[in-house]
Amino acid sequence: MRKALSTLAALAVLAAVLLGAYRLYGWAREREASQCPLCHRPVHGHTAFSAVLDGREVRVCCPRCWLTFLRVAGGTVQRPMATDYTTGKPVPAEECVYVEGSDDCPCCSANILVGTSDKVPAAQCFDRCLPSVIAFAQRDQAVAFSRRHGGAVVSYQTLLNEVGNR
Ligand SMILES: [Zn+2]
Repeated sequence: MRKALSTLAALAVLAAVLLGAYRLYGWAREREASQCPLCHRPVHGHTAFSAVLDGREVRVCCPRCWLTFLRVAGGTVQRPMATDYTTGKPVPAEECVYVEGSDDCPCCSANILVGTSDKVPAAQCFDRCLPSVIAFAQRDQAVAFSRRHGGAVVSYQTLLNEVGNR
């Protein structure tokens, strides 16, 4: 009876350890999936971009990181999907219009420019997600956004041409 109890206790400890390891593995996988492989920032719901590149799923934080990824890696692209900034819904990249170079960069942290009380000019450091590229499913919303935040309204093809791709 005593041996049976100790075996049961050992099995319970083993089950707890395995469950903990499984949860840790799941947490690590989830964290990896929600992090941009290029800039290592979190992939935000309203700016994410995904595609299949040479048979491998790529998910980055924003269209700018996608363009950089494409320029560097090259390859055969399938199902490029942008995220409509207004609704957060995935939309085929070719169907979106983009605002490039606005003053809004959802990826960037607010502390790129460090303000000082004595108004000393500060130079902006390089940021991988700049100039920002924000996708919109509706052209009129892209135009309205660019009126508020600056930037140019461009097509997906224009962005691809800029990085010398197709
Ligand atoms: Zn990124």
